[in-house]
Amino acid sequence: MKDCELLTKCLYFNDKLKNMPTASEMVKKMYCRWHYEECARYRVAMVLGTEYVPPDLFPPEAERADKLLVQFCHTR
Ligand code: SF4
Repeated sequence: MKDCELLTKCLYFNDKLKNMPTASEMVKKMYCRWHYEECARYRVAMVLGTEYVPPDLFPPEAERADKLLVQFCHTR
């Protein structure tokens, strides 16, 4: 297990998002510290760039990340 490489600048990890869920500390442990490859924010950042990660995208939103990535593929 390895920390996510985006940890220091990630808005979610650094509590900069509005409406942070109450379970965010557990989510941070699950995703940011253990399984960052499955994080919706990480996946979008790796393909589109960190500037294209929606500010309100939360780590477990895999389907939303999939839609964003599919949309990106169709616009290229
Ligand atoms: S795992 Fe996701 S939420 Fe956590 S630091 Fe990385 S990009 Fe941010």
